[in-house]
Amino acid sequence: MSKITSLSKRRGFIFPSSEIYGGLESSYDFGPLGVEMKNNIKLAWWDEMSKNHQNIVGLDAAILMKPEVWQASGHLTAGFADELVECKSCHKRFKSDEIKQKLCPECGGKLTESRKFNLMMRTFVGPIENENSTTYLRAETCQGIYVNFENILNSMRLKIPFGVAQIGKSFRNEITPGNFIYRTREFEQMELQWFCHPKTAKKYFDYWKKERVKWYLNLGIKKENLRIREVPAGERAHYAKQQIDIEYKFPFGWKEIEGVHNRGDFDLSNHSKYSGEDLRYYDEETKEKYFPHIIETSGGVDRSFLTFLSNAYQEIRGGRTKTTKATKEMEILLKLDKRIAPIKVAVLPLVRNRPELVKKAKEVFKLLKPNFVCQYDELGSIGRRYRRQDEIGTYLCLTVDFESLKQDDLTIRHRDTMAQKRVKIKDLVKVLKEKLEI
Ligand code: ATP
Repeated sequence: MSKITSLSKRRGFIFPSSEIYGGLESSYDFGPLGVEMKNNIKLAWWDEMSKNHQNIVGLDAAILMKPEVWQASGHLTAGFADELVECKSCHKRFKSDEIKQKLCPECGGKLTESRKFNLMMRTFVGPIENENSTTYLRAETCQGIYVNFENILNSMRLKIPFGVAQIGKSFRNEITPGNFIYRTREFEQMELQWFCHPKTAKKYFDYWKKERVKWYLNLGIKKENLRIREVPAGERAHYAKQQIDIEYKFPFGWKEIEGVHNRGDFDLSNHSKYSGEDLRYYDEETKEKYFPHIIETSGGVDRSFLTFLSNAYQEIRGGRTKTTKATKEMEILLKLDKRIAPIKVAVLPLVRNRPELVKKAKEVFKLLKPNFVCQYDELGSIGRRYRRQDEIGTYLCLTVDFESLKQDDLTIRHRDTMAQKRVKIKDLVKVLKEKLEI
């Protein structure tokens, strides 16, 4: 993981938060390339839900909600708590299910009995800090969807089955954050809530499980590094009747990146009970009134980010180009899917001490900028610049050379094959759109 962490910082993907003050544990900022890549992941998910599936609408709910929501959802009670033990000597805390030994793994001190630790982050609304002004930063985005169930149903005139998709921040006071951005206290989720008739819940659970695995594979995640784990009854989230975890094989082991849950009628029936609003659905054709069951797909933007980075990262000892003497160098290649890659195109003059080449390359850059996320780079040898672009996953490099001045064309170099092809500048935007499938 340290190689990915260092590449992330060096090349502007991810920085430690508040670094000049020593950093805040488990908090990260997404840099210029990180924000492009994160947006690409979110867009790929949003397109998948809103374009590739039927009957799915969106929502962007507030992070702050009435505390009653969290009473009804079970998050303020034991349901949303981790068991933890504390070392009596160094006072470090550990999750009970992650610690096998009886003594502290850090200092060998004695451990306390395990006890529950609630993960909700508390805050106050308004100037007075007391019980009445207490509220929470949401721990999952989906509650905003459940409490808007009727608003969405009525305003959009939907019929069951239908889905509501949402992307947004969630917060959990994790006891053991770590592994870079894998587990943080502030993170982003991409969640779909699929409302269906109880009799169809099992069918849709199986359907969404397959669809979500397909999404990762389609974006280039290697099949051998992806698996599904059926979560047994004792280990499931407090709301789940049935649960699978989609896991990825990270350098630190197989870990969950997304969960698919059959939440039954847990949420709508509890919100009905606590709010006094009848959230049952009335089927006009069958005259049946019932609580729809919910199938949820819940993935993390940050964990997907780490999955795509880990999956794409390659080191090539001696470099890929056999024609140069890079034999001692370690070349890094970030083989990201073109939809996920932060920079799509780089424009490079062959050399920078020839004003006519620089002028033409800058004209090409200006032509492309409104159409593609692109970079202009003239510093260093052309080979070094190709390697710099490969390291951040830039899909195509365009080189303006002496031939370009005569032919009004340039070369397009493909990141993965390094194959180069000449293209006329007048055809460039069209050709790039085809190559990038935009
Ligand atoms: P874990 O067992 O790893 O704590 P979880 O089962 O509690 O995860 P869910 O409540 O199912 O997670 O949340 C759905 C998704 O949200 C997870 O699969 C993950 O991608 C993301 N997620 C949850 N907690 C965190 C976190 N602390 N940091 C980053 N992403 C998270």
